[in-house]
Amino acid sequence: MATGYVYHELYGWHDTGTHAGLVPADPRRGVQPFRHFENPEAKRRVHELVVATGLLDKLTRLAPRPATDDEILLVHTPGHLQRLTDANDTGGDAGDGGSPFGRGSLDIARLAIGGVVRSVEAVLDQEVDNAYALIRPPGHHAVPDSGMGFCMLANIAIAVQAARRTRGVGRIAVVDIDVHHGNGTQTVFWEDRDVLALSLHQDRVFPPNSGFVTERGAGEGFGYTLNLPLPPGTGTGGYLEAMRRVVLPALHRYRPDLIMVAAGFDANALDPLARMMLTPRGYREIARMLVDAAAELCDGRIVCAHEGGYDEAYVPFCAHAVIEVLAGVEEPFPDPFRFDNLGQQELQPHQEAAIEAAEELVDDICGPDAGQPAPHDGPPLPG
Ligand code: ZN
Repeated sequence: MATGYVYHELYGWHDTGTHAGLVPADPRRGVQPFRHFENPEAKRRVHELVVATGLLDKLTRLAPRPATDDEILLVHTPGHLQRLTDANDTGGDAGDGGSPFGRGSLDIARLAIGGVVRSVEAVLDQEVDNAYALIRPPGHHAVPDSGMGFCMLANIAIAVQAARRTRGVGRIAVVDIDVHHGNGTQTVFWEDRDVLALSLHQDRVFPPNSGFVTERGAGEGFGYTLNLPLPPGTGTGGYLEAMRRVVLPALHRYRPDLIMVAAGFDANALDPLARMMLTPRGYREIARMLVDAAAELCDGRIVCAHEGGYDEAYVPFCAHAVIEVLAGVEEPFPDPFRFDNLGQQELQPHQEAAIEAAEELVDDICGPDAGQPAPHDGPPLPG
């Protein structure tokens, strides 16, 4: 099994400044300069762990290239790209006041998108079986006309649209396991039945009041957005039940040609930006289910793109577990933290109720032979 792997040192040079976590440093408000939660360290330490354990030797390095304006405009408005371009010499904010970036960050964001595009192309062209893009800045909150939630541009959504254009891929499922709602991906594909947007997240963390089970898409895309907001405190038991009863049945009904994973690790038991309890073992099991589903449904084609995850010490072990599964490593690297025995790691009744509410919606998802014309069944458009 060949697993593609993208990482570039410049991903760590995207400068989010001196915020105290989330709050702009300001001595007048008593906010001492510190560092932004979305800083390079968690991702850099994922890469260093992948090198240090020797996992890198089992991976196929893929070199990212910068995404073009054309690719970015497959998803974003010209106005949003222009605002980022105008601020690229000075630094600024990507649009919501909570997504700071430094000089040259647009160049790095282009390289992040390009890392996902390259991964998808390598998988579709059978250069590798599957791939992990360890990129930064993240992307799943960015909407067409604005950045949001530390995200400048919608990395995965752009890669999806680029793959449809250049490779003529029919149906793509995006499984978002970041602890925050994948609102950007949902917005882009709201009326599109050729992309199944699935998001598992902690109920109403970010964006606030977003990601309800009742948000299901519209028009032709109705039913092809599926949200599963889980109660705070959900651990491995609740997540695996959600995978078994919602995500896997949804994938099996939809029968995608490619599975994309918004691989956020902020549902980990130590994360500062959420209150869930996943461990490396939990992430490993989730990854195994997704890899097995890809093997059954789409010749193993699965591409993970890194999103959030803010505990610098713990995230590396969570991400390492997922990359091991992609690479078919049988003997996992030991988890030194041992949070698998935390109280209530097993499924709780109120978590089950949330899972049931989403489970009822899975039957509305139709496979490729549902009788409606696939909008993209012609030859691939020129790239
Ligand atoms: Zn997140």
